Amino acid sequence: MPNVRQFLELDRQLPKKLEAAERRQNFEEIYTDFDAAEAMAQADRCLHCGNPYCEWACPVHNYIPNWLKLVAEGNVMEAVELSHKTNSLPEMCGRICPQDRLCEQACTLNDTNFGAVTIGAVERYISDVAIATGWLPDMSDVVKTDKKVAIIGAGPAGLAAADVLVRNGVQAVVFDKQPEIGGLLTFGIPQFKLDKKVVEHRRRVFEHMGVEFRLGIEVGKDIAFKDIISQYDAVFLGMGTYKPMRGNFPGEDLPGVYKALDFLVGNVKHELGLAQTPEPYVSMAGKRVVVLGGGDTTMDCTRTSIRQGASEVYCVYRRDEENMPGSRAEVKNAKEEGVQFKFNLAPVEVMGTDKVEGIKVIQTKMGEPDEKGRRRAETVPGSETIIPCDAVVVAFGFQPNPPEWFKHYNIELNSWEGVVASKDSLYPFQTTNPKVFAGGDMVRGSSLVVHAIAEARDAAEGILDYLEV
Ligand code: FAD
Ligand code: SF4
Repeated sequence: MPNVRQFLELDRQLPKKLEAAERRQNFEEIYTDFDAAEAMAQADRCLHCGNPYCEWACPVHNYIPNWLKLVAEGNVMEAVELSHKTNSLPEMCGRICPQDRLCEQACTLNDTNFGAVTIGAVERYISDVAIATGWLPDMSDVVKTDKKVAIIGAGPAGLAAADVLVRNGVQAVVFDKQPEIGGLLTFGIPQFKLDKKVVEHRRRVFEHMGVEFRLGIEVGKDIAFKDIISQYDAVFLGMGTYKPMRGNFPGEDLPGVYKALDFLVGNVKHELGLAQTPEPYVSMAGKRVVVLGGGDTTMDCTRTSIRQGASEVYCVYRRDEENMPGSRAEVKNAKEEGVQFKFNLAPVEVMGTDKVEGIKVIQTKMGEPDEKGRRRAETVPGSETIIPCDAVVVAFGFQPNPPEWFKHYNIELNSWEGVVASKDSLYPFQTTNPKVFAGGDMVRGSSLVVHAIAEARDAAEGILDYLEV
């Protein structure tokens, strides 16, 4: 029986976290798993509010209180089925969603200072346990249709679209230029946040469901889009955003200045023993490293540098801590691991003649909010200083990089090169080419895994309507 007073008797408790000293030595995930008793007890803290704000704050609108109740009762197998009704990658979201800004922020217990239910950790627990015990979705009721859809990109968006389509009897063929599925989940986000075995297990689940993966194939190079659009009933584009934003300050092209994603991907491929192309492996061992930026990518670069054995790692951010866009939990983890934060400093110039010797920065103060509501950073004249360093990583975010061939197929782009597609269209996320749908970062701009999943699931519903399935 659920204990209605559990939240009074038991504090919020996350799964155990490895000690920072141990974390610094390797790329293992830093959180261990809940055991069954811990998961049941934490899930039982849920108040089962009449109007669960957590569900509204979750972009895929997970049935959170319902699966928490099932876990509290020890019914993980029913919980896993329910969890997959709204989310295609629950064990990934449980690991890497910024819950402190989404579901857990909205939890009533958070508002009342009892400490939010550990929603993300329980969501992860459900799928991890089910998959470890051999759970696979039951597809026996699926009635196959004669429709087939090509999906370009095996990131969260492409995978979520494939999930919905195959569950509705549509053949889903996913093309990706990388050798493994996952997009940035595999080739971006470091292993200490998401072990790549988790992605591998998920690939097996999708393959069992009938999703076909054609990996190591770049559309537009290894296969023409013309062939794809003519052979399939519809196409879903989930190709992400990969053009790094530059700082445009002197010295940005000096040897020793690295682009964040190249640095991270080089490290993941090195750790996985994959070919180091096109991103070379860069080791920060023994170096003084400055990472510029304040988002998730920045934290991943600082913490990767720490694990590689950098002697000092600084995060230099132009706003204050309160106005950082990244997850609060990740900032805390980075601090524990030894990353030093320098807030209210903007880069002016990378110093050095034939290699990085330091970075000149200028102090900033917080001004009025910008159009996104975040306060602007205004520079303070005459306040320049130099931080001596051996390497600089630029983590200023990404812009879309739509391929040339879009224009031959009437796939319209907006002013910042994002694909024009909307949830509010007659067929959600249909592009200006009726046969082509799109979702994830290439529509919304660099965002979150759970947003890519949410949009792609809506897009897949749009495709089903368009195909009259
Ligand atoms: P992607 O994940 O980028 O996938 C696109 C896929 O398309 C790739 O696999 C690519 O190879 C493939 N592709 C592109 N062009 C072609 C082509 N022509 N032919 C074949 N394949 C092609 N979000 C979170 O929620 N939490 C986090 O902690 C977090 N950390 C992040 C850390 C980093 C370093 C980065 C860069 C992002 C992070 N994000 C995080 C954001 C999140 O990863 C993205 O929002 C999400 O992956 C977007 O999904 P997507 O499917 O739209 O694109
Ligand atoms: Fe929270 Fe993300 Fe899971 Fe939604 S998908 S319940 S936001 S962890």
